[in-house]
Amino acid sequence: MTAISLGMPDVPIKLAERRKSRQIQVGSVAVGGDAPVSVQSMTTTRTSDIGATLQQIAELTASGCQIVRVACPTQDDADALATIARKSQIPVIADIHFQPKYVFAAIDAGCAAVRVNPGNIKQFDDKVREIAKAASGAGVPIRIGVNAGSLDPRLLEKYGKATPEALAESALWEASLFEEHDFRDIKISVKHNDPVVMVAAYRLLAQKCDYPLHLGVTEAGPAFQGTIKSAVAFGALLAEGIGDTIRVSLSAPPAEEVKVGIQILESLNLRQRRLEIVSCPSCGRAQVDVYKLADQVTAGLEGMEVPLRVAVMGCVVNGPGEAREADLGVASGNGKGQIFVKGEVIKTVPESKIVETLIEEAMKLAEQMEDAGVASGEPQVSVS
Ligand code: SF4
Repeated sequence: MTAISLGMPDVPIKLAERRKSRQIQVGSVAVGGDAPVSVQSMTTTRTSDIGATLQQIAELTASGCQIVRVACPTQDDADALATIARKSQIPVIADIHFQPKYVFAAIDAGCAAVRVNPGNIKQFDDKVREIAKAASGAGVPIRIGVNAGSLDPRLLEKYGKATPEALAESALWEASLFEEHDFRDIKISVKHNDPVVMVAAYRLLAQKCDYPLHLGVTEAGPAFQGTIKSAVAFGALLAEGIGDTIRVSLSAPPAEEVKVGIQILESLNLRQRRLEIVSCPSCGRAQVDVYKLADQVTAGLEGMEVPLRVAVMGCVVNGPGEAREADLGVASGNGKGQIFVKGEVIKTVPESKIVETLIEEAMKLAEQMEDAGVASGEPQVSVS
């Protein structure tokens, strides 16, 4: 068999230059500037249940989450923050609504950042001086997290509803209060459940400030709908270079949010792809059960970290072409599969052997890629 040239992956094509935002540091993760777009999620456990929360954070970390947010609605939750922040493997952001006292508790507890919702924290504006002082003393950034569902009543009155202008104005107003105290360690989110409003709001913000932006479609819905809404909205913004960190909100386990977030970034070449299955949708020409084949290959290669592209094609129309473009592929026909490695047919196997042959060849390639030092798709995390 001829030697296969593995080479380095091609330099990915960029859709747009990233918007130039100021960089902040959320614990060990840099957000904004030239830092890679990071993926966040939020725990669903009671924060006061330290064991369950740390367990979920460990699962999120394993799924690739880089920053985690925890809710802090009660004093018991606030009391749990110090242990959680200390034991979490990734930076912890405390999410504060209604009670300004928990902002101070979170800063004291060593959280990497605090998210405040200026729309529902009582007399928030009067507290900005104290919050800015405490946060800057501890080197803790603040996320000003405006939500359509809890917009500042003054802006609701001015605009009638949560328009893009209202969302952006609310965030910028709060940021200006912090700026009065020379505090600029800020990132901003302006979430709405309608991707169109959300995209327009972030575009406005992107024009009017240089703060890093945390993208989110709030209450995006169950996994299927929420994935589509988030992918569409984040895709529109990230394709314009807008967005420094993302959180996909799904009515589903948080690790699913992380998977979707990572996939969105990989799809836009904002993160190096890991395993990618290029499989055809199948059609009347298919000579093999493509869905089953693609599922079996995906399951067999789960957890593979190297950026391997595997083509699973149903017939000879596009099969050989796609299989040739991929690192590894199969083009099926007449009860057989032609197996391609790096553009060359290395063997033809009966249909019953396609899956095991692909997995076997993928393992060999992965090993060679690892030996050749081809970077895995692990997210790049800047460590301060
Ligand atoms: S590769 Fe063949 S089976 Fe798959 S969609 Fe294209 S024409 Fe149909």
